[in-house]
Amino acid sequence: MDRVTQIGKFVPKSGKRSFGAPSGMTPFGELTRNPVMITISDPGGMHRVVAERGKSGKVWLKCDCRDGAAEGWCQHRVDLICFRYDAAPAADAELRRAFEGIVTGTSVFNTGRDADRALRAFNKCLEVFDGRRPADIMRGNLGKFTDLISDLAASSGELEDALGQLRRLLEAA
Ligand SMILES: [Zn+2]
Repeated sequence: MDRVTQIGKFVPKSGKRSFGAPSGMTPFGELTRNPVMITISDPGGMHRVVAERGKSGKVWLKCDCRDGAAEGWCQHRVDLICFRYDAAPAADAELRRAFEGIVTGTSVFNTGRDADRALRAFNKCLEVFDGRRPADIMRGNLGKFTDLISDLAASSGELEDALGQLRRLLEAA
């Protein structure tokens, strides 16, 4: 009962106290494997994602794909942060658990999931724009353009912020 009060709803299965670890984060000493390497396979080829937690709680999440080098972030890492393993068929249950233990509850995890939400909102907005954009600006259609573009601009701005934060976090050595 005490433990529940002290660290919130998350109680480690081991029963060990986890002072200093934010709710939901596996304590460093309880990580089964660290670092872990996950192989991603997509139309662009094979890529290697390596996740490692430092003792301070910092997570390094690297991917050797071209986007990762050029953009500072990539969809591979966002997918893994969201526990989507479609492009990683070789990642068995044990490897997934080890990876999830490293990232869950960390700032990379929270920032990556924020970026994923922003990406999905932007894509949805783009879809709406493509589906509803008028063929011309006559008969009051210009106002429809204004509404559609305002929505798109807002979600694009939010996405830029979210990806900027993720990029800064992933690039910090
Ligand atoms: Zn990548």
